[in-house]
Amino acid sequence: MIESITYKTKSDSSYFYSINNSYNYFIHPLINYFFEKDNNVIGEKSYQVFFNNKNRRIIVNEVAYDSKEFEYYYSKYIHMLNNHIFEALLNSPNRYNGIISPKTIEMELANLQSLVFEITEKCNLNCLYCGYGKLYNNSGDRKRRVISFDKIKLLFEYLQPYWDDHPFNNSINQVINIGFYGGEPLLYFDLIEQIVILIQSLNLKSKTFIFRMTTNGVLLDRYIDKLVNYNFHISVSIDGNETNHSYRAYKNGKNSFSDVYENLKRIQSSYPDYFSNNVELISVIHDRNSMQSVHEFLYREFTKITSAFPLNTSGINQTKLKQFNHMFNNINNEIISDDILKERFIGVPKVRLLADYLVYNSSLFFKTYRDLFINERERVRIPTGTCIPFSKKLFVSAGGKILACEKIGHEFELGHITEKQVILNIDEVCKKFNTYIDSIRQSCNNCYFSEMCLQCIYQLEKSGKQNFNCKVRGKSEFSKYLSSVFSTIEENPELVGRIYNEIVIH
Ligand code: SF4
Ligand code: SF4
Repeated sequence: MIESITYKTKSDSSYFYSINNSYNYFIHPLINYFFEKDNNVIGEKSYQVFFNNKNRRIIVNEVAYDSKEFEYYYSKYIHMLNNHIFEALLNSPNRYNGIISPKTIEMELANLQSLVFEITEKCNLNCLYCGYGKLYNNSGDRKRRVISFDKIKLLFEYLQPYWDDHPFNNSINQVINIGFYGGEPLLYFDLIEQIVILIQSLNLKSKTFIFRMTTNGVLLDRYIDKLVNYNFHISVSIDGNETNHSYRAYKNGKNSFSDVYENLKRIQSSYPDYFSNNVELISVIHDRNSMQSVHEFLYREFTKITSAFPLNTSGINQTKLKQFNHMFNNINNEIISDDILKERFIGVPKVRLLADYLVYNSSLFFKTYRDLFINERERVRIPTGTCIPFSKKLFVSAGGKILACEKIGHEFELGHITEKQVILNIDEVCKKFNTYIDSIRQSCNNCYFSEMCLQCIYQLEKSGKQNFNCKVRGKSEFSKYLSSVFSTIEENPELVGRIYNEIVIH
């Protein structure tokens, strides 16, 4: 059973979290005391006992209270009790009973936000921490494949009816992001250009397209004019200065830093507007850098706030665990300066943690306009933070597999494209997803983090073919989490206003 809890922040303030309405109440220490001592310890009878002592004073946690104060907070406590504020969540056994239907999946296809192609499995670098390298073993059999243009054409022929006058297409001028990913996509720029021209010829009434690419930046000098011409948004990987960047090496071991850095500088000076609007930097944080050092270098050099990520923790090759642990750097534990906190803001883990909390507990946050019309009581509650297939994106691997995204193992393929047709059985996709989430439903029903869970089911450990395991996160872990969120709010109250203005309301 999920119960309400009290907790204290670093400043020793007491709070109460009501599981019924997800509110946090700043409470008097006496209310905290009554709540913790309740379940028949305080009750009417023992309450009388408190006042039967001679001087009618009571010491709670080394603080003396007189009878008036004690009585006032006791009546307040009883009022809260009578209004069911402290009650456990009565329907917790079935909180997450939602399933999806084939119609839901077709709706997602008709309103697809992002379509990502793995152009090739080949890469001109050999980064030590690469998700497709020796440290991991969940990316399927990589054979240096290149995606086939004919397969992509077949996919667009399959999707176009959903994007034309389909009854499930409820978009007006919807933007579809077309992503090119790898390996290194720029190794096959001619193919990318062919795809761009195909998309531009589609002539759809309700859709427009934005082209995006994730690149290691080494070949940018060759293709930048065309990328600018097609208004590509590019994400370039750079891990900081030369030493910070040294895991990103060529096959002969040479650090790729100078090539990437010079290419970025070239774009910055030749296409300053494009550089400021269309170029994003991404950095992996590991043992040879830190968020602070990466930020300082890249902000100074390019006036850009890099998106920082830790090493991927799923699918680690167990024979390389020692090497992984040596390289892993937990960005959540890094202490960074106030200046950098101001500049990076949402790019700082503690701000992210707070924003996630506020977003998931704010009645002001709606992911889409459609959500504005959903009655909270009728909301279909699906366990975990896993996205419904195609609600975030559709990913096509270089071999033609169709997946929910590029971050998950290829064993979770939802369909594939052959030389002749797209094989995507909507009923099967739906059945698979419902079976997966069924295997974890019970755990999520009993988990304190379920309302704000971001855990993707495909990144959990599995026992057997379809049973996913996640350790239920209990009361004491949740209370520590709330304590850390509210300690951050107490220490930096200005962050809350900034988060509401820039993220929740935006
Ligand atoms: S990691 Fe999981 S939840 Fe996130 S986009 Fe991919 S499939 Fe969806
Ligand atoms: S943390 Fe695990 S058990 Fe808890 S809601 Fe998320 S997936 Fe379910």
